[in-house]
Amino acid sequence: TVVTLNRTIPSGAPTLQDFKVASGSAPSKGELKTGEILVRTLYLSCDPYMRGRLSGRTDSYVASFEAGKPIDGLGVGVVEASASSDFKEGDMVTGPTFKWATRFITSAAGLTKIPSSSGVPPAYFLGVLGMPSFTAYVGTITLCKPKAGETILVSAASGAVGQIVVQLAKARGLRVVGAAGSDEKVQHIKDLGADAAFNYKTVKSLDSAIKEAAPKGIDIYFDNVGGEFLDVALKNMKPNGRIAECGMISQYNATAESAYHIQNLAYVVMKKLTIYGFIVSDYYSTPAYSEFINEVSGMLKENKIKYKMDEISGLENGPQALLDLFEGKNFGKRIVKVSEP
Ligand code: NDP
Repeated sequence: TVVTLNRTIPSGAPTLQDFKVASGSAPSKGELKTGEILVRTLYLSCDPYMRGRLSGRTDSYVASFEAGKPIDGLGVGVVEASASSDFKEGDMVTGPTFKWATRFITSAAGLTKIPSSSGVPPAYFLGVLGMPSFTAYVGTITLCKPKAGETILVSAASGAVGQIVVQLAKARGLRVVGAAGSDEKVQHIKDLGADAAFNYKTVKSLDSAIKEAAPKGIDIYFDNVGGEFLDVALKNMKPNGRIAECGMISQYNATAESAYHIQNLAYVVMKKLTIYGFIVSDYYSTPAYSEFINEVSGMLKENKIKYKMDEISGLENGPQALLDLFEGKNFGKRIVKVSEP
């Protein structure tokens, strides 16, 4: 089974009709060229950045998918055959070049071996020990340099990135305020240790909800959503506050007509704010990566970190699993289980 893109979608919401799920003959060992491996996919990761790759745009930090070709992304799988000296049959691998296919051939370059001694389920490498969690680390710790006693506000706080932001900040003695789009998600944020949390869809006013949760203002805003939430957060920042500009999911499906226009940008000057825009892939080659692995794997071993996964079964359900992210239908880190480990 393989998932291909029917057409690129520059703006507006993609639909299931934009994807094709087809069964075909699996690639075979005999097709391997030197340096390639044949991988059986176990899990694929659904990530908001993939919306940008559906758009056909050419000015992004990551290449767009092409109409008529399979889509790809982060995944975990097992090597079934290898023509690379780096991997052997049976190795567990992860990386960002997983084709959305049951089996696929890829260059071994760019994939990483998961040691059999890792002691954690392989899907963890797409979540708590993977890209979303490192994103939380870079934005919160490396860039915003939080101090005990400060207040951090996190949007999409029950999601893949947000859950870790909440817990890293809490572990450093911050007051943590989280927001999410359902009461169940709000309860989860509180269970992770947040001091206050609210459902941004049902509060009377976003502004008063933030003020109630953080009467003295916000030192750090970890922005996952952009749009109106960012606008209102800007108003509630303390002087010299920092913003980790991680993502703007509320705008990924926007059209020229529906795009939200920020009105409070002048506070960046008036309150002397610093906004850190960042892309996590820039940080794997910096000391932040080993700091992250040490801290989070240590917390995992000591049972000091919780992480909610949201698993959908079957590659044929992959396109819907991805589209759900943009409607808040995931609860926790959304992955697709393609085959049994
Ligand atoms: P999540 O697991 O949090 O899933 C997305 C969530 O976003 C949804 O569950 C929903 O939560 C929320 N959401 C969806 N649509 C809207 C909307 N219109 N308005 C407000 N909230 C919405 O995703 P991730 O944790 O993987 O990603 C979070 C953010 O981080 C994204 O913006 C993503 O692009 C960004 N990111 C950036 C990286 C970087 O390198 N800069 C790397 C990884 C992620 P709810 O129900 O609470 O609304």
